[in-house]
Amino acid sequence: MRLAGRMARLGTETAFDVLIKARSLEAQGKDVIHLEIGEPDFDTPSNIVDAAVKALREGHTHYTPSPGIPELRQAIAEEIASTRGIEVDPDEVVVTPGAKPIMFFALLALAEEGDEVIYPDPGFPIYQSVINFVGAKPVPLPLREELGFRFDMDELRAKVNSHTKMLIINSPHNPTGGVLSEDDLKTIADLAKDSGFMILSDEVYSRIIYEGKHASIASLPGMKELTIILEGFSKTYAMTGWRLGYGVMPVELAGQISRLMTNSNSCTAAFTQWAGIEALRGPQDASEEMVEAFRERRDAVVAGLNGIPGIRCFLPKGAFYVFPNVEGVGMDGDRFADHLLNEAGVALLSGTAFGACGEGFLRISYANSMENLKRAVARISDVVGRIG
Ligand code: PLP
Repeated sequence: MRLAGRMARLGTETAFDVLIKARSLEAQGKDVIHLEIGEPDFDTPSNIVDAAVKALREGHTHYTPSPGIPELRQAIAEEIASTRGIEVDPDEVVVTPGAKPIMFFALLALAEEGDEVIYPDPGFPIYQSVINFVGAKPVPLPLREELGFRFDMDELRAKVNSHTKMLIINSPHNPTGGVLSEDDLKTIADLAKDSGFMILSDEVYSRIIYEGKHASIASLPGMKELTIILEGFSKTYAMTGWRLGYGVMPVELAGQISRLMTNSNSCTAAFTQWAGIEALRGPQDASEEMVEAFRERRDAVVAGLNGIPGIRCFLPKGAFYVFPNVEGVGMDGDRFADHLLNEAGVALLSGTAFGACGEGFLRISYANSMENLKRAVARISDVVGRIG
């Protein structure tokens, strides 16, 4: 088959490949601890499930407007207005099947050949994939371990030029758990205003934060007009399989992204949208308890990893990943990740799955039980002992 040339530019998410490998080892009878996939191990809170069932029973089984039902867009506008301290009109909200399509649509709508898009490296692999796919130039911006996995603002300044169309930021960050400071956001905002580029602010981990409050660049003066907030329900409410997310953006762009929705998905599933209203307006305790459980696991995993010779692990401030430096174990990151899966039954990702700057690191998702996490750390320690 002769595929269109653009398909060669599309990347992927290695997590799904590792999951397939791990499953095949399990089929051969091997015990595997899954730390590769980035999704909460909790069930969706029951009030949200009940709202979806009710919506189905009430006949919310038809197409909806492409940008979402007005009731959910209103609830999202209120949620973003109150959490980010800005005015939001429902017309500035587009609901999508998961937050991921907002990445795809924003880049499709705004970036083309000749444009440059700066993105974090290591970073969510779909950023680079889609930048390439739409024909723009991906410009990786290294995140520095010694800066708590933030980037160096001078390095950012040096990458901005007249072709820069967009900067993607992600705080709290996948895969490192790093969080940008308010000063960082101010510096980025000043640069964006001076140079006129847009910010795609991936805030899907905004509620999974362990110190202080999440800060959004959209809250800074003059930034709402230049920002696309990408948010969703997958992580906050353990709703990965529901496929429900959204973008908040200038109304003109929202209209264009709605057209992309009409041309691709038509709309997001109706009953999941009704459930989304319950998620936002109903009790938040299940989500808050989940974050507390993540905090305990984070502390245990970081302490365990830092006790292994050759491994150094930064204490992440958000999300549910740790990104330990494994340069000292005597094996490169890719081989070490493979070795851990094959020899110890621990499925995790090499840092290179998130870009060249991930070399020498692993990404471990601690969205698993405390018992499994402790078993995994013990297995990693055992393997490192044997290499050494
Ligand atoms: N952005 C980041 C940084 C993520 O880690 C993920 C999922 O892993 C997404 C976006 C996509 O989330 P959703 O399930 O809402 O499409």
